[in-house]
Amino acid sequence: MAATTFDSLNPATGEVIESFPRSGAEDVDRAVATARAAWEEWRLVPAPERGNILFRFAELLRSEKPALSDLMTREMGKVKAEAGGDVQEAIDMSYYMGGEGRRLFGHTTPSELRDKFMMSVRMPVGVVGAITPWNFPIAIPAWKLCPALVCGNTVVLKPAEDTPLLAQRFVELLHEAGLPEAVVQIVHGFGEEAGEALVRHPDVPVITFTGSRETGVLVTKAAADQLKHVHLELGGKNAIIVMDDADLDLAVDGIVWSAFGTAGQRCTAASRVIVHRKAYDELQRKLVVRAERMIIGAPWEDATEIGPVINKAAVEKIHSYTEIGKSEGAKLLTGGERVDGAGFYYRPTVFADVEPQMRIAQEEIFGPTTALIPVDSFEDAVRAANSVAYGLSSSIFTRDVNKAFAAMRDLQTGITYVNAGTTGAEVHLPFGGMKQTGNGHREAGQAALDVFTEWKSVYVDYSGKLQRAQIDNQ
Ligand code: NAD
Repeated sequence: MAATTFDSLNPATGEVIESFPRSGAEDVDRAVATARAAWEEWRLVPAPERGNILFRFAELLRSEKPALSDLMTREMGKVKAEAGGDVQEAIDMSYYMGGEGRRLFGHTTPSELRDKFMMSVRMPVGVVGAITPWNFPIAIPAWKLCPALVCGNTVVLKPAEDTPLLAQRFVELLHEAGLPEAVVQIVHGFGEEAGEALVRHPDVPVITFTGSRETGVLVTKAAADQLKHVHLELGGKNAIIVMDDADLDLAVDGIVWSAFGTAGQRCTAASRVIVHRKAYDELQRKLVVRAERMIIGAPWEDATEIGPVINKAAVEKIHSYTEIGKSEGAKLLTGGERVDGAGFYYRPTVFADVEPQMRIAQEEIFGPTTALIPVDSFEDAVRAANSVAYGLSSSIFTRDVNKAFAAMRDLQTGITYVNAGTTGAEVHLPFGGMKQTGNGHREAGQAALDVFTEWKSVYVDYSGKLQRAQIDNQ
């Protein structure tokens, strides 16, 4: 018989943090029924009041930031400063979406007929099924739940099996902030069990999913029979372009932060660096020095720059790509090995002489590995950058404003940075990717509201007679 619980582990030590229920379809049924019943009342709560709860939630997150960050270093392995940044993103999102309670703007527009009024308004959809990954264990639930709630939906959250305790705290704080308990339900467990049951549940009309491309395809198929609204935020194979006129020290700062921050486990991680051949040797030298100087250690220690990756399977996957890179003929400049001892650590790894079509330049590794690709021109750089299936983030380091603007136009990604790395999104602009990073939706900013609302167009005729659009105004 399958176990009824699963353990959350500390990736830095391999020790068990806590056990959680391994929920299945019946638990999902119960959670959805509760959230569905709560929706009838929650959708009628005035949006400013819903927003006020998010303001209180933001305040609670602020006061709990040190404790949540510390827990994140232990349950997810993110280093201290980055764990604080993850919580801060949730705080920012709660304030932003709290304010949305007094906006949620629709449109009014003149009618073609006399004595007739027209407007469009945003309507909540119902129960939202939110499925989240482990790599932003507080921020991503906030990106999904804050807009969903302020728009008047209720939510069933299925968090990643690697970070259940953080998700549990997140939901407890929402309830402490005054959210009625039934409005947000949490279901722990595995993707193929609790996750799939949520996706298939007939009373869940919206699925918001962040995770890998492969799982995104499964979710889309499972939701297809009921034509659900599906919002996908998937993987990336993000590139930094370094032109020959770039400030190379600044570029190296950007590469180190984007390729090795969070041990490379960000959807926006820079796993490719496309370098103009004139800057190639110098950039390699500088990057290797910096990579080898990085302090690997316990994520809760102040000095640590690289913590563990999430679990044993992740170390194995990352190492398998080192072997793939070598067998493809790329040159391993540094790293390429596990760190001995307890925990799931991998050294910052840099490959040189990578061809754009090699697997290490095409597939998401999700670890501290980056691939240097030499090119001869700006046009070749953009072509290489765009030669992957994903389209999340991109960046260019150049002092040439013409090239910067051409890159902003031509790079096929949902996010482009100029003279900064590939990571660093703020909550009030849309976040998400083109191509196979998603399915055309966006998280964050005003764009997030489109996922969690349906537009309703309303026509009010106060003429006292039947007026026929397209006919009576000829
Ligand atoms: P994952 O796809 O393995 O899991 C994500 C979530 O989906 C987990 O909660 C998991 O339990 C659930 N799941 C798994 N199988 C399922 C199924 N059949 N049905 C329903 N749910 C299922 O991804 P992960 O390893 O947790 O996260 C890493 C991935 O997430 C990377 O590809 C990364 O790029 C991506 N990511 C994307 C963004 C973005 O905004 N674009 C942000 C963060 C992470």
